[in-house]
Amino acid sequence: MKVSNRLTLYIVIGLVAGIIIGSILSPMSGEGWVQWIDQYIFNVVGQLFLSMIFMMVVPVVFISIVLGVVGVGDPKTLGSLGIKTLAFYLATTAIAISIAIIIALVLQPGEGQSELLASSEVEEYRETELEGETGEAINQTFDQTIINIIPTNVIEAMGTANMLQIIAFAIFIGIALIAVKDKVPGLIRLFEEANEVVMWIVLAIMKYFAAIGAFGLVATAFVQAGFGAIQQLGMYFVCVLLALFIHFLFVYGGAIRFLAKRSFIWFIKGFAPAMGVAFSTSSSSAVLPISMETAQKNLGVRKGISSFVQPLGATINMDGTAIMQGVATVFIAQLSGVDLTIMQMITVVIIAVVASIGTAGVPGVGLVMLAMVLTAVGLDPAAIGIIIGIDRLLDMTRTAVNITGDAAISVVLNEQMTRKEEKAETQA
Ligand code: ASP
Repeated sequence: MKVSNRLTLYIVIGLVAGIIIGSILSPMSGEGWVQWIDQYIFNVVGQLFLSMIFMMVVPVVFISIVLGVVGVGDPKTLGSLGIKTLAFYLATTAIAISIAIIIALVLQPGEGQSELLASSEVEEYRETELEGETGEAINQTFDQTIINIIPTNVIEAMGTANMLQIIAFAIFIGIALIAVKDKVPGLIRLFEEANEVVMWIVLAIMKYFAAIGAFGLVATAFVQAGFGAIQQLGMYFVCVLLALFIHFLFVYGGAIRFLAKRSFIWFIKGFAPAMGVAFSTSSSSAVLPISMETAQKNLGVRKGISSFVQPLGATINMDGTAIMQGVATVFIAQLSGVDLTIMQMITVVIIAVVASIGTAGVPGVGLVMLAMVLTAVGLDPAAIGIIIGIDRLLDMTRTAVNITGDAAISVVLNEQMTRKEEKAETQA
């Protein structure tokens, strides 16, 4: 069953209606009846949908990675797929952040706005976030991130939806199933059957709830958007959106056109439902079951590739987030009257790429990682307080870009593998 064009249309209608109604109600967000509608209708509808898709993340990721590994069959192919995936992810993220830095240097969103640094949000951020749990999360070192990839408690990894740990465990199970496959045909069959069941649920959630859920989430985000703040930070906002658009069009468009040799319009049309849901949820992890289903059904990505490349990407490949971080770093440097040196800019690229590994794809996490980037180049991380108010809207857009990157790479790897197989066949 394909994710139909009609469903895409419904999701788009849900998004547009949410944006329009949320924007109309936003100036009245202080009034009781608007708060009532927002809390009891928009928010309830949106959160129900969000919980439903979140509910499916752990089963879908675990089962499909196990099957993906079994499907690829040969650990060597798996290894080379892993290395290629990582190389693509790191390269696209580095390109993304470079585009962002260049745009911010040219358009100078922070010029003449230094008074923003004295705003109360900055001190508030320092006291509430940097001295609390967020501060601890920022201080997690690179070696801890690597060590944490292997779970010491599988139940806990699943309970906390720790994506990298679940991926690691699923790969172990998959490899073991290949090793003893003659002894456990029933178990492999059980995974296949379980996969049918969870995928059926994902499709049903999409079919019946995605449009209305997207509407609720977007409406509540726009009611609370704080459009006043956007005016003041307008240039910053424009720079992030522009960089996201350029990256989307040229890097993903180029990859689909020249590496996968497919049409970019075909790609956008096929993947649109997942992008719409990512926009409304602001969470790469939550949208994962839907983005995998969409890539497999609409873009023809084989399970073995999709189930491995996309969950990994949802955690470690965040091009949209890197773009926000690049623009924000230059913006905050400009507010602070600091000229970043080339060395500092290279540091920003490296830290942002490294920081994105092991960070969950949930709303707002990009800002937490930004603190790490700012600290690395000697800027005050509390300046994040300035942009926090408008981050939700940017989060929606960058999350859509984040998961599009994962899907684009899946398509590229899928097409490359197909061509390799065809070549081997003709030679044989
Ligand atoms: N919300 C983003 C995601 O899930 C992460 C972020 O930039 O905050 O992909």
